[in-house]
Amino acid sequence: GPVPGDALIDTAVHDAYRRALTHREGVVADYIPILGAADPEAFGLCVADVDGGLHEAGQTRTAFSIQSISKAFVYALLCEGVGHHEVRELVGVDNTGLAFNSVVAIEQAGGHPRNPMVNAGALATTALIPGATAERKWQFILDGLSRFAGRELEIDDEVYRSESETNHRNRAIAQLLHSYGRMRFDPAETVDVYTRQCSVRVDARNLAVMGATLADGGVNPVTRDQVVSADVCRDTLAVLAASGLYERSGEWLFEIGLPGKSGVAGGLVTIAPGKAGIGTYAPPLDAAGNSVRGQIATANLSRTLGLNVFASS
Ligand code: GLU
Repeated sequence: GPVPGDALIDTAVHDAYRRALTHREGVVADYIPILGAADPEAFGLCVADVDGGLHEAGQTRTAFSIQSISKAFVYALLCEGVGHHEVRELVGVDNTGLAFNSVVAIEQAGGHPRNPMVNAGALATTALIPGATAERKWQFILDGLSRFAGRELEIDDEVYRSESETNHRNRAIAQLLHSYGRMRFDPAETVDVYTRQCSVRVDARNLAVMGATLADGGVNPVTRDQVVSADVCRDTLAVLAASGLYERSGEWLFEIGLPGKSGVAGGLVTIAPGKAGIGTYAPPLDAAGNSVRGQIATANLSRTLGLNVFASS
């Protein structure tokens, strides 16, 4: 169908916001200590359409760390540089059916990281990012994420410190991949770059614009910058459809019918190809690690705006 009109989107956004606001289920993540300090009531919802229009409700300018949502965009940046076949071979595209930080998933696959949306695959992805040093890779990533967002993003130092002090499991995953010859860069330095990318500060509006860029063949709808190619968007969205919401990816696709990616700080980005990006922020998470209000509001928007990609009309 066509891109919904501005007035229709505005009404749908406010309605979805109001309805999701009544939900108080879920738990704020605290395995990264600083995340536990988030306001459980914080809630923002933004739709960025491919014409550059922004439709906002609630706290769309409240900053939080991007966390796992960075995986989607760093993967797109890697695909742009390395190409479809290489990335498929080195990182994989299949859902593990296991938790995002599972070591068992790696063992079961004989040391293969499986897909770029779990930590193993995200670490393998970050290791492959262009740049001979960790600093170069980091600059490449920060610059790329900023182009997706259409503004200069920054790291949240407090989150970076908190996560660096507690990311023992990610270090173990990187070493395990290394033991299988699957890390293309120093494992410890790769974890550090990955931790920085997860600590990048965004708001719901930034996520919406980042999503809209993937929805529109890689062109940022606000800056008109071509960040990645249309082929890369297609590949990235396919991976998100299979694995964007952790072990709940199948259920999400069944209910919402759109590729999306969540992060443990409470962010969620959803892409309606050719139409819009949806960004939400609400810290309480379901058991798999997905924002409760984010999912409810996005499901509502998908229905009222007719965004489900599997619908015939
Ligand atoms: N930085 C987090 C980690 O690696 C990201 C997790 C997530 O958002 O799923 O544990």
